[in-house]
Amino acid sequence: MAKIGVLALQGDVSEHVLALERAGEGKIQAVLVRKSGQIEECAALVLPGGESTTICRQLESSGLTEELKAAALSGKPILATCAGLVLISQEIMGSSEALVKPLGLMDIKISRNAFGPQKESFEADLQVKGLDRPYRAVFIRAPAIGEVGRGVEVLARVGDAVVAARQGNLLALAFHPELTMDSRIHQIFLKMLEA
Ligand code: GLN
Repeated sequence: MAKIGVLALQGDVSEHVLALERAGEGKIQAVLVRKSGQIEECAALVLPGGESTTICRQLESSGLTEELKAAALSGKPILATCAGLVLISQEIMGSSEALVKPLGLMDIKISRNAFGPQKESFEADLQVKGLDRPYRAVFIRAPAIGEVGRGVEVLARVGDAVVAARQGNLLALAFHPELTMDSRIHQIFLKMLEA
């Protein structure tokens, strides 16, 4: 049974575990990743939403940064949601703060809290490439992708802002698919394991 790791340093970890189990229909095992050596055992990895400044700090102190980079480069499917999207980006636009050091795994430039602070949480019906009907997406202090590189496929937008994109084995979302019962996004992610 394929092990899917959920980076469990901070954020909505248990929600992703449940969402993976729902989408996987008994064919996958979700495991919490906290320690060095665990990423290697996983076939794919989820970087959950939460607070990217905190996750970034904890990644460094846990020594997982290099293992995470290696997993991305080796082609393991990675689902990065919200704060996770911030982490895998190339650059945080309009920011001089060094609180979050993006890992530079995906060729995207992002803005943090692009839709405003906590109050600006909202839901939207997205047209997602590859899905035949709209996906109701939950946004919480969401980042947005402002620029995408050539190898990046845009999957969904809210207005001009790109909110879902894929680059090979990397699937990045500004919203929280783990907070709704619609499993279609996690299913797309698990399908990436077959590729
Ligand atoms: N605004 C948060 C950050 O930049 C992300 C919010 C979220 O993951 N829901 O870390």
